[in-house]
Amino acid sequence: MAYTKFEEKLANLINAGFPYVYIPSYEEERVLSTVNRVVGDRELVRSVRKVMTWAQTDGIQCADSKGPDRSTQAPMAALEYIGKYNDPAVFILKDFHVYFGPDRQTRPDYALIRKLRDILPNLKMNRKTVIFLSPQLVIPSDMEKDLSVLEFCLPDAVEIERMLDDLTAGLQPSSIRLTGHEKKQLVRSALGLTLQEAENAFCRAIVQTRGLDKSAISIIYEEKNQVVRKTGVLEFIKSDLSADDIGGLENLKKWLIKRNNTWQDRAKQYNLPAPKGVLITGVPGCGKSLTAKAMSTIWGLPLLKLDMGKIFGGIVGSSEENMRKAIATAEAVAPSILWVDEIEKGFAGTQSSGDSGTSARVFGTFLTWMQDKTAPVFVIATSNDISRLPPELLRKGRFDEIFFVDLPTQKEREKIFQVHLKKRVDSSEVCHWVNSSPDICQELANTSEGFSGAEIEQAVIASLYDAFYADRGLTREDLIRSIRDTVPLSVTQREQLTSLRAWAEKRAVLATAREDREHDLQDFSENADYRPGKQGGRLVDFDL
Ligand code: ADP
Repeated sequence: MAYTKFEEKLANLINAGFPYVYIPSYEEERVLSTVNRVVGDRELVRSVRKVMTWAQTDGIQCADSKGPDRSTQAPMAALEYIGKYNDPAVFILKDFHVYFGPDRQTRPDYALIRKLRDILPNLKMNRKTVIFLSPQLVIPSDMEKDLSVLEFCLPDAVEIERMLDDLTAGLQPSSIRLTGHEKKQLVRSALGLTLQEAENAFCRAIVQTRGLDKSAISIIYEEKNQVVRKTGVLEFIKSDLSADDIGGLENLKKWLIKRNNTWQDRAKQYNLPAPKGVLITGVPGCGKSLTAKAMSTIWGLPLLKLDMGKIFGGIVGSSEENMRKAIATAEAVAPSILWVDEIEKGFAGTQSSGDSGTSARVFGTFLTWMQDKTAPVFVIATSNDISRLPPELLRKGRFDEIFFVDLPTQKEREKIFQVHLKKRVDSSEVCHWVNSSPDICQELANTSEGFSGAEIEQAVIASLYDAFYADRGLTREDLIRSIRDTVPLSVTQREQLTSLRAWAEKRAVLATAREDREHDLQDFSENADYRPGKQGGRLVDFDL
């Protein structure tokens, strides 16, 4: 029989007589039945052991006894009982985190923590394992060395399909209108939910569609969006952008396109490691977020946006929980893209001690995951302020590549004008002439040196407002005027731009392709800071 990683790890810990294991999970029922199954399986756990559970409401309860032992309701009494129990056993303590000081307001119960340390030698001697099962991960610092944290993954497709089969077993066969392929799609759409959430979502779909057909998939997605939103830190992003919506950045695009499908089975024949991810830094408004969104369409993978600011937004202690939840959800939806927007916001304070080490621990969780991850979750991290990024994040082995997105070159500005004019020309009666004026984008690009992509887009929009107000079609002059009226950020923030470029020179690869730089290198501009020939970042050519 095939076992999950969790089952194997848990069995190893129990066989080794490991004293304290912590399983952070909301899915109490699923964890309990998994632990019971593992302990009862002689292939996994070699010798027979009893499994006992404890909750403050009942006290200790053994699966084969009639009722709980109410004299052990108090946590101290439960630990006394465990300490005196003389055979190998597994004790599952529910919600014990409340005694470990889960937030600033609650002080840890030192007597209980002391007791846990007192009974430790006895646990080891008699091969007893205590499992803390709680929705929150709270570890008393005194116990860190004797405690192993075991992540309980969200259910995989096999488990969800099993549950769906149980759920539909009681329905009229005629009400299940799904082909084999649609059923698989439906199951996949529920990845990322707990088993209970998936069941609720399926039930809602059954009620709404009076049975099950492929329209249930959109109901499950809706439900999943809600659940993912409730995590408060993740959001599903729907994108219909394609590579053609990005003007320039050809080097970056090529690099990303080459990594398409590397999570599929056929990549295993090449012994390719799954790509870890990419860090895209650079000048604001030049297409970093745009690239993340377009990649999701190009690769056909779900895009989950992680809001770094919100990871630290809640109560102290829950930041680590937030990060773990985000990682678990991205892994459950894998293959997927995890877009960590403004990554510097999360990891900037890691060196300071202002938050009693919370940022450092969250940072550690993320780094370890990046280093070890085997699930095909591709990370796209974007950052505007690289000076706040800790050096550990930039070390080899974390990201596969670091890209620098600089102000667009002349050729790139042409392409960006094409993108934005095309968007509006196609949908607007007022600027058809643009189609028959092939040189207009070149002229506009000449006039807009130092502009970011976002500023180019805004200039196009502003000129359309002018034309609308004058109640006539858009003219070349409208476009030129709105460009001239704009003072780009690169002028007002010249110093920041220079230092960004200096940083990128040694550490990052330029997102612009060589052919798009050539024009600027020949055409010496008076304004040296904007001269894209001086763009930051190493010039490396990625070919397709
Ligand atoms: P950032 O680099 O700060 O993440 P964005 O990608 O959010 O910037 O860019 C903001 C907007 O500017 C985009 O939604 C897009 O409309 C426009 N834009 C920026 N760069 C480009 C580009 N290279 N090609 C086309 N549009 C662009």
